[in-house]
Amino acid sequence: FRVLALESSADDTCAAIVDASRRVWSNVVEPQNHLHQALGGIQPMVALLAHQRKMPNVVRRALTEAKLEMADIDGVAFTRGPGLPGCLSVCLNAAKTLAAANNKPLVGVHHMQAHTLTPHLTLESPPSFPFLSLLVSGGHTMIVLVNSVKDFRVLCNTVDRSIGATIDRVVTLLNIPWTEKGPGPGLEKFCAEPAPEDLGPPPKYDPPSPMPGKLAFSYAGLHSWVERTVSAAGGVENVNRHALARAFQNAAFAQLETKLQLVLRAHGHAVRHVVVSGGVASNTLLRQQLKSSVRGPIEFIFPEPALCTDNAAMIAWASMHRFLAGDHDNYDIHPLPTWSLDELNNPPQ
Ligand code: ATP
Ligand code: FE
Repeated sequence: FRVLALESSADDTCAAIVDASRRVWSNVVEPQNHLHQALGGIQPMVALLAHQRKMPNVVRRALTEAKLEMADIDGVAFTRGPGLPGCLSVCLNAAKTLAAANNKPLVGVHHMQAHTLTPHLTLESPPSFPFLSLLVSGGHTMIVLVNSVKDFRVLCNTVDRSIGATIDRVVTLLNIPWTEKGPGPGLEKFCAEPAPEDLGPPPKYDPPSPMPGKLAFSYAGLHSWVERTVSAAGGVENVNRHALARAFQNAAFAQLETKLQLVLRAHGHAVRHVVVSGGVASNTLLRQQLKSSVRGPIEFIFPEPALCTDNAAMIAWASMHRFLAGDHDNYDIHPLPTWSLDELNNPPQ
């Protein structure tokens, strides 16, 4: 069974073809970083217009690179939510029209379910159910118990902002250059390079650790701590940007470790694997820190960085069990900009 999947929930326009034997025939990702960098973050309207412009050619490339045509496709999948409302409508409309015109079955996919199931597409021996998933992305920060491909329980969620959105804001605040892959990799690179020597010994920055002991993430306080530190110094030119960025990054990652340990205390006996995915999971330091923070028989799984960030191969894979079970959506399906993993099988109307 061969699926053509489309993804446009945030700022990447993606199309991919994947089959039930896990072969990835093509995986096209057209990023928009160059458009958003100049504007200081993702602008929903700019993203929507770019998706509209790019989606047809991205679909064409996915077919051409796979050397396939629509006649070789058995089903069409797309990201139904969660995501930016206008952006979601681009992959939804394109997928519905392709499916209807070619008389193919259609499946709408939960974007975070797809991030979670990525190792089952890519790994020789994927984790067995149940396992824990730490999702650290632009829109989410949560720890989820994954009981099966369609049974998810959110154990720990953010009460305010996601770690990725916070990273992106702090990158802007501290004037940290983006890499061609965006703001997060910019922070990673900046933190790894030495501070200019003429700044002298770095000051001691002391970030907050929010809600100790609570099973919840919070990143708004960490962001405002960076803001306060900058304004107390009289501007970003008066702080040691490298030292401050590192203090922020360490605190952001330490919170992930602390909450994961709390969850493992309650659920560690039932699971053997923790899958870490979402864009922030491509950070090398985070990977090392998480591995060294947990003792015992728990094994960490990090999907390869290119599949941690948004792509349509993961969407195709997350739709596969439904196609194989003959469980399709109607051509009049609507997008779900907000959609909790807890409501995967009974989405809001
Ligand atoms: P969601 O999946 O929640 O809808 P999204 O798809 O926009 O959000 P992803 O593409 O999974 O998010 O991740 C993007 C986030 O990951 C951005 O905030 C980005 O800055 C961050 N990120 C990417 N690479 C790194 C890195 N190396 N270090 C830290 N953060 C990173
Ligand atoms: Fe994502």
